[in-house]
Amino acid sequence: MSSYFGTIKRGAETVLGGLKITIEHFARATKRRDRLSAQDDNYFKQPLGLVTIQYPSEAIPTPPFSRYRLHNDSADCIACDQCARACPVQCITIKSFKATPDDLEELGTTSDGSKKKLWLEQFDIDMAKCMYCGYCTYPCPTECLTMTPVHDFSEFDRSNFIYHFGVLTKAKAAEKRAKLAKYEEEEKAKKAAAPKAAGASAARTPLAARAAAAKAESGTESAAPAAETPAADAPKPAPKLSPMMAAKLAAKKAEAGETAAPAAPEAKAAESATSPAPDAPKPAPKLSPMMQKKLAEAEAKRKASEGGESNAQ
Ligand code: SF4
Ligand code: SF4
Repeated sequence: MSSYFGTIKRGAETVLGGLKITIEHFARATKRRDRLSAQDDNYFKQPLGLVTIQYPSEAIPTPPFSRYRLHNDSADCIACDQCARACPVQCITIKSFKATPDDLEELGTTSDGSKKKLWLEQFDIDMAKCMYCGYCTYPCPTECLTMTPVHDFSEFDRSNFIYHFGVLTKAKAAEKRAKLAKYEEEEKAKKAAAPKAAGASAARTPLAARAAAAKAESGTESAAPAAETPAADAPKPAPKLSPMMAAKLAAKKAEAGETAAPAAPEAKAAESATSPAPDAPKPAPKLSPMMQKKLAEAEAKRKASEGGESNAQ
């Protein structure tokens, strides 16, 4: 019987203990936590107070570097395609084409002064595919592609998740593309005509004019070139030397005693007359005094030994 009433007592104590905690929180519910960003120093220093907020009329501020919905500031986009290439899930689609030179002014510049050269026909981001990694924002050279703090953008229609940032309407894109095609054709035609024009202008050079005049004077076709070109067997003119080379050459000639006349045929003949015949014995080489002395001693020794041998016999 006593254990029966003891169990009832424990149950009542447990219920009252739980109610006490609930009533305490209820009493504090008049106080609300401040709505702080997660970056705030006091974010974790508010243990008490109401946590829930009246969303969506109220919202907790997002941290400044949070990665939510993407935005492209098209005015600064140069259609370089780097963001699309960086995206791991290919949710950025870019279509662009070259602007003709007379459209460059209309195309304008980016906010940092870079000249834009491409029309941004299409720049679509499919946020339904996006995984908010932020990889696309890093390579952007003009920093026009950013992740915004907008995180609440639910849609009923999935196609509404595709955000369009292209700057041309369909009609304008068609017009600009046609203009570009025409410009490229004209450029091609100009390039094709360029070699012919170069040939024609060559004929108008002063040299050609002189040749034509000479031709007219002589009445023969080959007269002019023959008059201008030197004869094939004519001696070549001496090359022009620098003053230093000329001085060196003169010094060498002076050293050689100006006997370098071998160039003259008579001098060559005289030289060949005085020179020994090819089968004549070569003159003994000149020896130094020390070598001459050594040779004499060796000869004397050899003679002495020969004399000794003959005496012994
Ligand atoms: S945040 Fe990531 S997934 Fe989303 S578009 Fe950029 S690169 Fe692609
Ligand atoms: S990287 Fe930047 S500038 Fe290049 S296409 Fe993407 S958004 Fe435009």
